[in-house]
Amino acid sequence: MIRTFDAVIVGGGIVGAACALAFSRQGMRLALVEPAEIGGGATAAAMGHIVVLDDSPAQLALTRYSQLLWREMAGELPRDVEYTQRGTLWVAVDDEEMQEICRKHSVYNANGIPSEIVAGEALVSLEPALRHGLTGGLLVSEDVVVSPQLAAQAITQQALTGGAILVREMAASMKSGVVVLGNGDQLHAPILINAAGEGAPSLTPGLPVAMRKGHLAATHPYPGFLRYQVVELGYLKSAHVTTTDTVAFNVQPRQNGQLLVGSSRQFGVKSREIDDGMLARMYARATEYLPALPSLSIERTWTGCRSATPDKLPLIGPSADDETLFLATGHEGLGITTSLGTAQLLADLIGGTPAIPIGPYSPSRVQPHW
Ligand SMILES: Cc1cc2nc3c(=O)[nH]c(=O)nc-3n(C[C@H](O)[C@H](O)[C@H](O)COP(=O)(O)OP(=O)(O)OC[C@H]3O[C@@H](n4cnc5c(N)ncnc54)[C@H](O)[C@@H]3O)c2cc1C
Repeated sequence: MIRTFDAVIVGGGIVGAACALAFSRQGMRLALVEPAEIGGGATAAAMGHIVVLDDSPAQLALTRYSQLLWREMAGELPRDVEYTQRGTLWVAVDDEEMQEICRKHSVYNANGIPSEIVAGEALVSLEPALRHGLTGGLLVSEDVVVSPQLAAQAITQQALTGGAILVREMAASMKSGVVVLGNGDQLHAPILINAAGEGAPSLTPGLPVAMRKGHLAATHPYPGFLRYQVVELGYLKSAHVTTTDTVAFNVQPRQNGQLLVGSSRQFGVKSREIDDGMLARMYARATEYLPALPSLSIERTWTGCRSATPDKLPLIGPSADDETLFLATGHEGLGITTSLGTAQLLADLIGGTPAIPIGPYSPSRVQPHW
């Protein structure tokens, strides 16, 4: 069977869901292809931290733009998505990290992102669970937390209400305006979006993305244990290392008082099993900052995979060798944050003017090497 649409999106994670909503709001007839649970891939594994980061001007532009889009959407999200302006407290252990805090503070200030430097012992008044003796911190008050899979499902539901069609099949291939499904049906459209996360490279061979496994743990509820999402400044350094396994302290309180404890990064590990050694390293790191952490009981542990590009920016935009094919993948540890920005940039690229320059995310920057 052949069906025709204005656009076909493959992958119903947070990125595909956001694309479906942005495109349906432009009045396009579209199909979202997802054989499994909506948001059941990397999206379900995420912490749901909607965070502004400034590793590069392009990363800052996309994360902030996306965060503002989340804020606009907040009133339309059901309560169970738990959109919460939690704030991030970055903590520094020495003078070198404190210098980085000051640099971050001035970059955020220059870009209209509210942040406040917190001196040494004042950290413990803000977060009594933190150990004494930390050098200082930066409170970024507009960072947000959501429940990522429920957000993907709510966004998909809005797209379906707006007329999008959900196709419960695996895409076997997508090129030249045709998505062939596992059952042999064809979906034709002048615009195809590859938002298949971990599945994206098998649909677009040669895509320069590598999988980075991560572990998370959730404790039982301990209301009041933490107020902010608290992250070591070294998280940024550890997120950049590509040669060895890394862990960093990154703990998020949920609305019910549960704590999500992260984080770890491992390259080239295919197994989804919990690696007890990695989990122990991750917990030991977090305990260096939160000494009472081992006294809290763990409810659940899990792993997930981030899709990483070589330059740590996602691939958003047209493929150079197929004018019908657009990519929306490679978001590594920021795909929940940047999903709405990704979708809006693509929708504007196709039917308007993007609000921020899209060049830094364009697949053409890496495509010559495919
Ligand atoms: C441990 C961990 C913590 C994280 N924490 C955060 C965080 O706090 N904040 C943040 O911003 N990001 C975070 N991330 C990153 C975030 O989870 C990802 O960047 C994001 O979920 C990617 O979304 P996606 O839609 O591209 O992929 P996915 O959610 O994986 O969705 C892809 C979908 O495509 C479908 N699919 C695959 N192949 C096919 C095919 N052939 N046909 C049809 N469908 C197909 C899959 O079934 C899947 O549902 C974290 C990631 C991990 C692993």
